[in-house]
Amino acid sequence: MTSTVNTDIFPLIGHSISELENLAESFGEEPFRGRQIFDWLYRRQVDHTSDMMDLPESFRKKLRRFTIHPLKTINQDTSSSRQTKKFLFQLSDGEFVESVLMYEADRITVCLSTQVGCAVDCDFCATAKMGFIKNLTVGEIVDQYIHLQKMSDKKITNVVFMGMGEPFLNYRNAIAAADLLHHPKGINLGAWRITISTTGIIPKIYQFTDEKQPYKLAISLNGSTHNQRLKTMPITQKHTLNDLLDSAKNYTMQSKKPVTFEYVLMDGINDDPLDSSRLKNLISSIQCKLNVIPYNEIGGKYKRSKDNKIETFLRSLKDAPFPVTVRWSKGTNIDAGCGQLATSTKTTNEKFG
Ligand code: SAH
Repeated sequence: MTSTVNTDIFPLIGHSISELENLAESFGEEPFRGRQIFDWLYRRQVDHTSDMMDLPESFRKKLRRFTIHPLKTINQDTSSSRQTKKFLFQLSDGEFVESVLMYEADRITVCLSTQVGCAVDCDFCATAKMGFIKNLTVGEIVDQYIHLQKMSDKKITNVVFMGMGEPFLNYRNAIAAADLLHHPKGINLGAWRITISTTGIIPKIYQFTDEKQPYKLAISLNGSTHNQRLKTMPITQKHTLNDLLDSAKNYTMQSKKPVTFEYVLMDGINDDPLDSSRLKNLISSIQCKLNVIPYNEIGGKYKRSKDNKIETFLRSLKDAPFPVTVRWSKGTNIDAGCGQLATSTKTTNEKFG
């Protein structure tokens, strides 16, 4: 036991039970005091260490130097349908991230970011235009959830890691954040309520499979052939479509769980009837679901497929051996749809400063 305090542990959200036990011990307290802090942070979600009423006063005093939240709420936008809210948070180093809260009947979903910007340069995505700025810490990922839960009048039922960034290029922190969301003594969300979406970082898909991670896996396919996908998702060069499908199949066979394929429909790019039949062939032998996402425009060269094209595309998937869902984003008027999240100090100052 050491009496020196690890100052890296500040702020507190983001730390696991064992880290908090170590923190308590570093103050000469019993490890169970760390478990009490865990309870206050994640289950009761207090904003100040002074509210942690079952800790001895002397210990609470020592904890005063720690803050709770790694993120500061800067702004909130509500979509015209009132079903989607977008939040802007500031990190301690001044960078910004966005998260989205979506209401759909009894299903309350939050979409969390895992990076500021993104290194995967999908040509159609707003976040990609920012370039890669940094990985979020575990605390910066989990704190988005905690803030959103505090601002929501209903309990959050589902979490998707589909905000800014590529979760599998921040693998350890993304998984540790999911572990905290899932922890039965804390936030206690079922593992099947947490979905991690990747552009297809193949070694990480194998790692996720080998580690038997309990969370749902989604893969952004967005093309029906290798060359077509390569045009909008240059990462296909390194991680080929065939290899990606093999890794997805391996996941489903090892985990005995389906994978979700996401397919963003873009006008004249991947929305031809030929695409839907090729797509059907590509994924029919994999235990999967297909989530079709009509493209949310970001003012660039890509456009949303025309309604009749979307309908034809979906109709031709009617006999597919896998379930098909459509994600009509409800927050596009506040740029909260899939792939519309982007922050920069400049635009933020213009909008909110
Ligand atoms: N990097 C991860 C998670 C973030 S993107 C991934 O790519 O999976 C979440 C989903 O939104 C992905 O399926 C992506 O293909 C899709 N997307 C990106 N830009 C979009 C846009 N402008 N409109 C609709 N969907 C988009």
